[in-house]
Amino acid sequence: MTHGAITDIPGAVGPDDRRLFRMVQALQDAIVFRRARAGAYCYECDQAPGGRCEDHACDLDLIASYEQDARAISAAISQGVIPRQASPQRQPI
Ligand SMILES: [Zn+2]
Repeated sequence: MTHGAITDIPGAVGPDDRRLFRMVQALQDAIVFRRARAGAYCYECDQAPGGRCEDHACDLDLIASYEQDARAISAAISQGVIPRQASPQRQPI
């Protein structure tokens, strides 16, 4: 994932859009973090009847919640629920 690509373009999005993009990015960062935690070896998970200890089961629940929230925010942006400004001209780096 590229951090800040859209929000770094002057005029690309309004202040509300930038706030929402940051929220989506924060949620995606949290998802990556939780997936790494959930995928790491855990002795407690090995001993748990369902194969997941309480902490790692919580990670999976949070991942599902974060994904749902990120999709809802992204859909709101793409459906124009949040007013957009004119499309920018991308500047060469
Ligand atoms: Zn565990």
